[in-house]
Amino acid sequence: MSGGEASGPRAGRPAAGAHHHGLPAHEAVLLWESDADRGLGGEEAAERLERFGRNVLPARSSGGLLRRVLRQFHHPLVHVLVIAGVITAALREYLDSTVIFGVVLVNALIGFVQESRAEAALEGLRAMVRTTATVVRDGRRRRVPSADLVPGDLVMVEAGVKVPADVRLLRAAELRTDESSLTGESVPVPKDEVVLDPRTPVADRRNMLHSGTLVTAGRGAGIVVATGPETELGQIHRLVGAAETLATPLTAKLAAFSRVLTVVILALAAVTFAAGVVRGQEAVRTFTAAVALAVGAIPEGLPAAVTITLAIGVARMAGRRAVVRRMPAVETLGSTTVICADKTGTLTENQMTVRSVWTPDAVFDVTGVGYAPDGALHARDGTVVSAGTSQALWWCLLAGAACNDAVLTRRDGGWDLVGDPTEAAMRVVAGKGGMGTADVSERRPRVDTVPFSSERQFMATLHREAGGGHLVLAKGAVERILDLCTGQMGVDGGIRPLDRGTIAAAVEDLASDGLRVLATAALPSAAPDAFAARPLPRSLVFTGLQAMLDPPRPAATAAVRACRSAGIAVKMITGDHAVTASAVADRIGLLEQPGPGKGEVLTGAELTALSDHAYPGAVDGARVFARVSPEQKLHLVQALQARGQIVTMTGDGVNDAPALRQADIGVAMGRSGTQVAEDAADMVLTDDDFATIEAAVEEGRGVFDNLTKFIVWTLPTNMGEGLVVLAAILFGATLPILPAQILWINMTTAVALGLMLAFEPKEAGVMVRPPRDPARPLLTGALVVRVLLVSALLVAGSWWLFTWERDTGATLPEARTAAVNLFVAVELFYVFSCRSLTRSAWRLGPFGNRWIIGGILAQTAGQLALTYLPAMNHLFRTAPISGGAWLRIFALAALATLVVALDKRLRHHFV
Ligand code: ATP
Repeated sequence: MSGGEASGPRAGRPAAGAHHHGLPAHEAVLLWESDADRGLGGEEAAERLERFGRNVLPARSSGGLLRRVLRQFHHPLVHVLVIAGVITAALREYLDSTVIFGVVLVNALIGFVQESRAEAALEGLRAMVRTTATVVRDGRRRRVPSADLVPGDLVMVEAGVKVPADVRLLRAAELRTDESSLTGESVPVPKDEVVLDPRTPVADRRNMLHSGTLVTAGRGAGIVVATGPETELGQIHRLVGAAETLATPLTAKLAAFSRVLTVVILALAAVTFAAGVVRGQEAVRTFTAAVALAVGAIPEGLPAAVTITLAIGVARMAGRRAVVRRMPAVETLGSTTVICADKTGTLTENQMTVRSVWTPDAVFDVTGVGYAPDGALHARDGTVVSAGTSQALWWCLLAGAACNDAVLTRRDGGWDLVGDPTEAAMRVVAGKGGMGTADVSERRPRVDTVPFSSERQFMATLHREAGGGHLVLAKGAVERILDLCTGQMGVDGGIRPLDRGTIAAAVEDLASDGLRVLATAALPSAAPDAFAARPLPRSLVFTGLQAMLDPPRPAATAAVRACRSAGIAVKMITGDHAVTASAVADRIGLLEQPGPGKGEVLTGAELTALSDHAYPGAVDGARVFARVSPEQKLHLVQALQARGQIVTMTGDGVNDAPALRQADIGVAMGRSGTQVAEDAADMVLTDDDFATIEAAVEEGRGVFDNLTKFIVWTLPTNMGEGLVVLAAILFGATLPILPAQILWINMTTAVALGLMLAFEPKEAGVMVRPPRDPARPLLTGALVVRVLLVSALLVAGSWWLFTWERDTGATLPEARTAAVNLFVAVELFYVFSCRSLTRSAWRLGPFGNRWIIGGILAQTAGQLALTYLPAMNHLFRTAPISGGAWLRIFALAALATLVVALDKRLRHHFV
């Protein structure tokens, strides 16, 4: 540290608690050797990044390596195994205890690897959701990864962003932040740049923005004064986006189920042991049998397999550009019955191009597509015109371009946009009309702003003219702008009475082509304090309309159709005009009877007018909601849910957060959406595309199918093993399978066969059946019957085979080896059957899932080793068996498979 300076760029790390809020804004800028307009230089920023480190908080460690390894032993089942191992060792059954401890170790190893992989996968998912910040460096506004921010950076924030570092404000317009993540205070607090008493506590520092808090309204700019661990957030060690776990309601239920089962089985084992001893059976033998019962009947692989299946589902969804933020979403997705999607950007491309400019006296067509300035304005007679051809046109283009925050820069032959596509389009059309930056910004610097918000639906700016005068410019939704106007501008700049009828007819005409129409207005000579009164007084002059094309996304139509056939209703929700919305909806096949007034298209105003009684029915029946405010979105979700729908809802704005939280699945937009919406969402679309939601639903259904398949596959084994042992104890018979052998079956088949079901591709029909009723139990009656059937087959088959082998002269190890191989053979055939819950295994073709083929080869090799390798024979008390025994095994396994196939055929319906 140099000198006595508390902080600053030369002082190493900024000192904690530096009182930046007590300094005038310009002194904070000086302290950090920055510039309030140009920000830092690129080189200086790079050098500071080196010195201060990246703007990230240290990753939450999930414990040291040793702790993570030890954690694997902390499961009830492992405790049971360890106790069993210790007792068997005490009884000098060293082989059994070696196998038991071997299993404990292998189990821990698998658990450890899976946990690490799942964590790495979640870490990767988090990285997919971008966090960028808007900074000014070298005088140019640009987006940089939030991690690259350094002290001294000039950052810009606006409604919707998550504050990326601790910032001393230099400018603020209607700025409010939600600091609940830091202070617990959930009411948004107003922010400005005034100097505060240095003793002001953190919660009251209204000239500071704190890392991790959310900007809920307005705009602002400030200097970064602390990054990473030095921020208030870093200081109190509260991490943003607390580590996600892989738990879902289903995994929790299954884990609880296995715990209860463990206790029940242990009690049963203890009682059996006691009963056996009381009846005079040999203690060691009875104990071994009780251990066998316990380890066989507990479905130890179940919770892990469910977690892995979910994790694979999440990875598949990520591969299709849907990032799941909250694991329960994976389960709920498959049950979705209604998808409410935004229009702009989700069903359409959000690539705006102004196609037509309407002024009270003339209409102009615009050529050229996209953000490139190639194209021109044409009068109706086809001649190319410039902005100056009409005063109304000139003011209309100026309002569109100057009341505007979009920044377009040329990059790699294309155009890079920071800001709103609507605004970008308005800037581009002004360029096509011959207006340059001199007209738009240099000659008339902006002095005040009424920022755009979805509620306000317009934006207005106050500018100072070179000559000292002031002017107001505004743009926004037609109704809102007309509400601010008293007259309309003519070709010569003269002001005439407002002709609402003609304007409404023009809007209707343009919107019916699916064009998005915005109105512009101006006040050429305004008072310097024109923005002092809020709401703005009605004093502006209407200058014209700009109609822009936003093409529907190419994949939207097919995705809407796919949702329909999957029994999912699709509804469009938009802030746009009803006519525009219904034209776009019609184009993507959303409407049956296009046009307003037919019950399929409802506007926000119509929604408000509905009685409480009529509301839910009308909402359920409508397909397009236009001019809807964010609060109305929340009510829409609630009404749909009250009618029993499972609602997936998209949102991008700050005020969509309540609706996203309320929806069963809230979906945020990764590209154009705000971080506030992302924070509230269960899933983020990295491409903003509606088709991605449809893909995620499809994956969600697939995941649920695979979970069910695994459970239907695994339960009979545990049940069968438990019953065989129980029967042996009850009848006082020799155990057909030993504890170590049961452990072998459970461990190897779960890994080599069962888990492979998690990789099963989706079945062809997933999107042509109705959504899953979430109230329906995981295993339907038909599946329960199948589980019982297979368990019964296993018990009967192994018992019969064991007895047959014994009766025909096989030794005990040989008969047991045959029984073990029968268990595995039945499971091996059965895994094919489980690949589909409804269709027969033959229909699927044997090679649809290569993982299973690999698993089967590995399992077969394992069984051969178990049967023929002397070391394995020694360890597991097995023995080589005859060809005849193998024949019987296969005949029985084939018979079992046939019975299952028959059962499936008899219940030829979806389960
Ligand atoms: P969606 O809800 O489908 O995303 P949207 O973009 O039209 O649609 P909002 O962003 O809430 O929804 O916009 C509502 C209306 O406000 C728009 O129809 C438009 O008339 C107007 N508007 C949109 N963006 C701006 C802007 N940057 N400045 C001024 N007015 C705007």
